[in-house]
Amino acid sequence: MKPRIHYTKPSITELEVRYATDAAANGWGEHCYDYINRFEEAFKAHLGVKFAIATSSCTGALHMGMAALGIGPDDEVIMADTNWIATAAPITYLGAKPVFVDILPDSWCLDPALVEQAITSRTKAIVAVHLYGNLCEMDKLLAIGEKYGIPVIEDAAEAIGSIYHGKRAGAMGKFGAFSFHGTKTLTTGEGGIFVTNDSELYEHVLTLSNHGRARGQAKQFWPDMIGFKYKMSNIQAAIGCAQVERIDELTRRKREIFSYYRECLTAIPGLSMNSEPVDTVNGAWMPTVVFNPETGITREILQAAFASENIDARVFFHPLSSLPMFEERRANEQAWDVPTRAINLPSYHDITVSEQDRIVDVLREISSKKITDK
Ligand SMILES: *Cc1c(COP(=O)(O)O)cnc(C)c1O
Repeated sequence: MKPRIHYTKPSITELEVRYATDAAANGWGEHCYDYINRFEEAFKAHLGVKFAIATSSCTGALHMGMAALGIGPDDEVIMADTNWIATAAPITYLGAKPVFVDILPDSWCLDPALVEQAITSRTKAIVAVHLYGNLCEMDKLLAIGEKYGIPVIEDAAEAIGSIYHGKRAGAMGKFGAFSFHGTKTLTTGEGGIFVTNDSELYEHVLTLSNHGRARGQAKQFWPDMIGFKYKMSNIQAAIGCAQVERIDELTRRKREIFSYYRECLTAIPGLSMNSEPVDTVNGAWMPTVVFNPETGITREILQAAFASENIDARVFFHPLSSLPMFEERRANEQAWDVPTRAINLPSYHDITVSEQDRIVDVLREISSKKITDK
């Protein structure tokens, strides 16, 4: 058996180890928030936003942000059907309903025309998820939000390093949320962050994030409302500080891995990869290939071929509307169809060229076999 090629894995250096060790040894008492404050400052500077609150997950950041926007029972929140469940779950925690619309065939992100059609009197927000680092059409989505007075939230969990018309993903909407889960470009093991330029929203989320205790409240142990407990620990933040110092290196490497795949795979007929339109940069969190229906190459064929080569390639997100908890929406044709002929390729930072070549060979072989079949 050839050695296993992993799908994702963090890039951890001496720096992360040094900071985490320092936090574990000294980050207590009066220093118990030092790395958290430093991490928030560094991430704000990277993104170009005014406010940030580090959290225990992106799910938690989304939950608090949506709660602060007043999303509640019977409200509707529009999002793409193609997604990880973490974007939809907080909507349901608040008693609201996620409304799943179809994706565009090239970016695999929200189709703005369908977003506009889905707006009702109950719509309280639109969530733009920049899938696999691919960017949503933010100009159009923000214009729709403006026209109807509906906030656009950015779930940028997969879009560290992605830039749209000079602006970083996560910095364009009413608020943004990121994930620092171990599979993401920048990691703290588990973790996330809430970011915004809106001072009022920031104050509200800050209070919520502290179990409802406002920072101006003079009385001790006095919550003014029911809040949440989604905090990042100082030790996690220490790892995050090292990762933010290395953020250019981390995103450059992701793009390099993606570019190499793209270079090697463009010659394969009927294969497309992550989109990168003019005046955008794709942070390339997850290099993904999609085969045209005419090729006859399916997810199952891809999964079997990669499994037999001991390569951990993963399936493209199932449409959320195909899950048992939600209402089925087969009319979302792209969201239901694209995953059936797609696969995510391994892309951890330390992957070698020869490992990438093994992956490329699998795809070339599948493709040439299919052509001679015909
Ligand atoms: C990873 C991910 C999340 C969830 O992040 P957690 O930190 O695990 O809560 C949310 N949205 C998207 C699009 C993701 O990829």
